[in-house]
Amino acid sequence: MRTGKQYEESLRDDRCVYLNGERVKDVTRHPAFSGVIRTVARMYDLAADPAEDMTFRCPETGTCANKVFMIPRSREDLQARRCAITKWAKISNGFIGRGPDHVGSFFAGFASASEVFNTPRHRFGPNVERFYRKLVEEDLYVTYVIIPPQIDRSSTAHAWGEELLQVGVLEERDDGIVVRGSQMLGTATAVSDYLFVSCIKPLTSDDERYALSFVVPVRAPGVKVYCRRSYAMSQPSGFDYPLSTRFDETDALIVFDDVFVPWENVFVYRDVNQLRRQFFETPAHVLGNNQAQIRLITKMKFLIGVARKIAEVNGIDAIPSVQEKLGELASLAAFVEGMVLASEAECIIDANGVARPNPRFLYAAMGLQAETYPRAALLLRELAGGGLIQLPSSYKDLLAEETRHDLERYLRSPRLASEQRVKLFKLAWDIVGSEFGGRHLQYEMFYAGAPFVAKNYAFRHYGYDEAVACVEGFLSSYELDEDSACR
Ligand SMILES: Cc1cc2nc3c(=O)[nH]c(=O)nc-3n(C[C@H](O)[C@H](O)[C@H](O)COP(=O)(O)OP(=O)(O)OC[C@H]3O[C@@H](n4cnc5c(N)ncnc54)[C@H](O)[C@@H]3O)c2cc1C
Repeated sequence: MRTGKQYEESLRDDRCVYLNGERVKDVTRHPAFSGVIRTVARMYDLAADPAEDMTFRCPETGTCANKVFMIPRSREDLQARRCAITKWAKISNGFIGRGPDHVGSFFAGFASASEVFNTPRHRFGPNVERFYRKLVEEDLYVTYVIIPPQIDRSSTAHAWGEELLQVGVLEERDDGIVVRGSQMLGTATAVSDYLFVSCIKPLTSDDERYALSFVVPVRAPGVKVYCRRSYAMSQPSGFDYPLSTRFDETDALIVFDDVFVPWENVFVYRDVNQLRRQFFETPAHVLGNNQAQIRLITKMKFLIGVARKIAEVNGIDAIPSVQEKLGELASLAAFVEGMVLASEAECIIDANGVARPNPRFLYAAMGLQAETYPRAALLLRELAGGGLIQLPSSYKDLLAEETRHDLERYLRSPRLASEQRVKLFKLAWDIVGSEFGGRHLQYEMFYAGAPFVAKNYAFRHYGYDEAVACVEGFLSSYELDEDSACR
């Protein structure tokens, strides 16, 4: 199993990451990335510790592997996988959305149905299987960009006036393809090993050039990672911004400046229909999003834990209307957890013998996520009031001789001394109010597609036949006739 140290060392590979107008020399030593790299290193160390029971014998590789990468073949497998994903999620309290387990789950889904990648034109199934084995054996951290840049959502890439704004084929060679263009939004790409590039948004038959799936090392020549502002870098301390400094996984626009991709790393080539099939005819989309929901359970629990503590510290937890708010938070958290457990309990064994989390329940939680997470964050804000703002400018005010006595006296609660109180409220602000917190609101609303897309998944996968049959059964139980009023 890969250790945290091995992971860190592998990132010193001269990758092309840009921040604040400069190329980052070494991400492991840069303050924008070092916090999250340490967190991911802890995840690898945890998985490598036999006492944590995070490994299994992988039938595809014949090696000992991380359970988060498992192709589940029973309800028990799904449960074991969930426990492993939860152990990782607890390290960041669910604030690392795109750890190695996210795209790793997509690849488990792809490889479990690799025949989907074989078409009359191409036989890419073996490529998918080979890359999945590599990912498992080398414990790779793969991230993805599967959304076209937000240039014009009224049309698709072929109609954007200029060619290759979205990543597409520039040149086909005997040994592979050369790609040019861009794709969004590479969360954690700056600190990962490989990038999976594809397009989940529907394309048209005029977009064949953009209808691709492939993997590429982040360090590959021509791959440029343009990061957004760092939320970790500018903070005064880990005490003031405990989440921003540890879990800012970064997001980036990825530019492909004539990147060569050998055929063995290509999974879909110039085939619009295959883009959809790879995600929805394999279990990739359900397994990837099941991982995301398992992580969300941990985050929701953390959020309501902070709310409960704040209510207790401020002495408002016995007020009935406050209990109502805490009860609403509890309902939101239990709803997410319940849907994940239901999708596991009601899993469907597919034709390849793979246990797929039941999409009815999985997509129900996803369909409401743009409401559940913002609602939970709003309730936390409401319960915390001005306490989120009435905080010292930095930890230095708590230490300086001239200021600390006033803060000890006036920033306290009957049940908590000032240092602990400030610590709690600064944590709450990092969840709901900091730039990091604002990004998380956007993340939970958009990571699996815009809210209308997530609701469409729920619409497509609910299985309305049962509901409609109930209505039709009832409608056919009575008729229009003279006696109908009596029946
Ligand atoms: C923090 C964060 C991290 C992310 N990380 C990743 C990542 O690692 N990898 C990755 O590939 N992607 C990632 N994404 C991108 C994410 O997948 C996209 O944001 C998402 O798919 C939505 O696409 P969009 O942002 O272009 O929104 P758009 O599709 O432009 O939608 C924005 C809004 O426009 C309206 N709209 C647009 N089209 C329609 C329509 N047809 N019908 C009705 N309304 C419409 C809706 O109001 C919608 O909410 C991330 C996003 C965020 C916010």
